[in-house]
Amino acid sequence: MRPQRLKEQDHMRSTRTISRRRFLQGMGAAAAMGRQSIPTSLRAQTGRSRREKLFPFAYSDVKLTGGALGAQLDRIHASYQGLDEDRLLKVYRQRAGLPAPGEDMGGWYDAEGFGPGQVLGQIISGLARFYSETGNPATQAKVERLVKGFGATLDAQDYWYPSLKASTASAAYTLDKILIGLLDAGRFAGVSQALEIARRCVNGSIRYLPPRAYERFEAPKQAVYDETYTLPENLFYLGEASNDPAFRELAKKYLMDATYFDPLSRGENVLPGLHAYSHVNALCSAARAYLVLGESKYLEAVRNAWDMIESAQSFASGGWGPNEEFVAPGKGLLGESLTKTHAHFETPCGSYAHSKLARYLLRFTAEARYGDSLERVIYNTILGVKDPQADGHVFYYSDYHPAAQKTYMQEKWPCCSGTTPQVVADYAIGSYFWSEDGIYVNLFTPSEVNCRVQRVPAKIIQTTNYPESDTTELRVEIAAPCEFSLYVRIPGWLKSPAQLAVNGKSIDVEAAPRTFAAVRRRWQTNDALQIRFPFSFWGLPIDEQHPNLTAMMWGPLMLVALDSPLVLAKKPMEASPAGLRATASSPLTFEATREAEKLRFVPFYRVRDEVYTTYVQQQPA
Ligand SMILES: [Zn+2]
Repeated sequence: MRPQRLKEQDHMRSTRTISRRRFLQGMGAAAAMGRQSIPTSLRAQTGRSRREKLFPFAYSDVKLTGGALGAQLDRIHASYQGLDEDRLLKVYRQRAGLPAPGEDMGGWYDAEGFGPGQVLGQIISGLARFYSETGNPATQAKVERLVKGFGATLDAQDYWYPSLKASTASAAYTLDKILIGLLDAGRFAGVSQALEIARRCVNGSIRYLPPRAYERFEAPKQAVYDETYTLPENLFYLGEASNDPAFRELAKKYLMDATYFDPLSRGENVLPGLHAYSHVNALCSAARAYLVLGESKYLEAVRNAWDMIESAQSFASGGWGPNEEFVAPGKGLLGESLTKTHAHFETPCGSYAHSKLARYLLRFTAEARYGDSLERVIYNTILGVKDPQADGHVFYYSDYHPAAQKTYMQEKWPCCSGTTPQVVADYAIGSYFWSEDGIYVNLFTPSEVNCRVQRVPAKIIQTTNYPESDTTELRVEIAAPCEFSLYVRIPGWLKSPAQLAVNGKSIDVEAAPRTFAAVRRRWQTNDALQIRFPFSFWGLPIDEQHPNLTAMMWGPLMLVALDSPLVLAKKPMEASPAGLRATASSPLTFEATREAEKLRFVPFYRVRDEVYTTYVQQQPA
């Protein structure tokens, strides 16, 4: 079993050996070369393959064809496609003494802002991924212009930062972000000079980086808010893309072993008090280290940290980190945070890191629990953000305070304006995976995936209204009948059994919650697998110290109460999952009646500007 396109590292290998013109003829050309040059049996012998049970598809293999996820992807793509390139490049051109037309970006982005020029790389990365998914030539052209425009600002010593402040206050943080942009531009948008510019950026950064990774609490360190510990993931990526072991060695240098990965690998919970997003992103560096180096301590660190986050740091949405920090477990601090802050989850950045980590763990373990978590975070956090505004105002914090409203971050162009396009583009690669014997279906959303089954081209077409409906259908198109497994994630939130049918006829397969059900047969073209996941209401308490402070859930969706009176902050609203009913008037709208008062519940992602309350007091049974 292998994807029609190549998996990540094969793709990078092949793009180095083909001309840019040929690359731009489409991913099909690269894929064809890869298929001939890297037989499955050979790849299975590599150490790296042994570390992965599942393999990702390329962005270009998966197409979202509608639904809430597809619609958001289209809106975010259009929004970032519309950004003014002169303005994005202005701080870099000004520092280089080049003509710099256009208005200042404002906010964090300006030369003396909090994060000068910082999100340029992530915007390029998001656009490159959107190009790979959609094939839109205007997006490819925009990526190429931005990379060339940026490349023209590097000086003879490869200094590239937009200001002295950027190179002294956030040298590593800014480098990490430009690297992912350049690497993705080369890999997904065929911008041939991007890799060389990435190498030069590292060269120009070395003198500003500290000798090792520093935690924020360690002193002395170079700069308070710099985040060296997030660097290795992208330095490993650069090492693979360039085939230069020097970058791999540099990546190893910034792995934060002593204070973070080593204790985590031993099961010691060092999370409390740490900055939440950057430390989940650093776990992605550990995951990449495991993939590249094969040291099991990194896998242990990631698995243990995941369990610690899931069991004691997570809101019902799957988000974490009130006021951007992990809390001390067992003290009821999540429950207390509900009325102490409005900054409960740094949503675009946090969901980006969480989604990446969930995909790494799916690849390493093939355990459906990580897919459950990916679904939960996507539907209940990032899908619910307000659309970005053209002037750089973006949604930042999900607010679980009683009587909350969705807002934009006050400052323009914060970190979350960079991760928004990346995490949304990544919906595609979280939807399907492949193994040697089948295709794994992880997200239920209208989509198609191109793959090859025993060298036979195939396509899986998913048709669904999920999560408005609780059913989905997977139709197979295949050039010749072929035996393989379709693996379907059976969500952990199910309270009654999933129902599976092939071509309308019920089948009897193991389908326990939190596993992938395997439907193995000789599939013919137009065969279809139908699955029903019976949704039900259930309650999720915030923590052990507040057992009655509960979020109402409907299948995978976190519901919030609308039009909630402001007095809620003093006297919690009461409701129970058993008291909820679907309304006939509109899908995904629910009602609960309490003492003649009607409460209306909708999924968090459906909230626009209404006042809403996430946690309610669970009524006694
Ligand atoms: Zn952010």
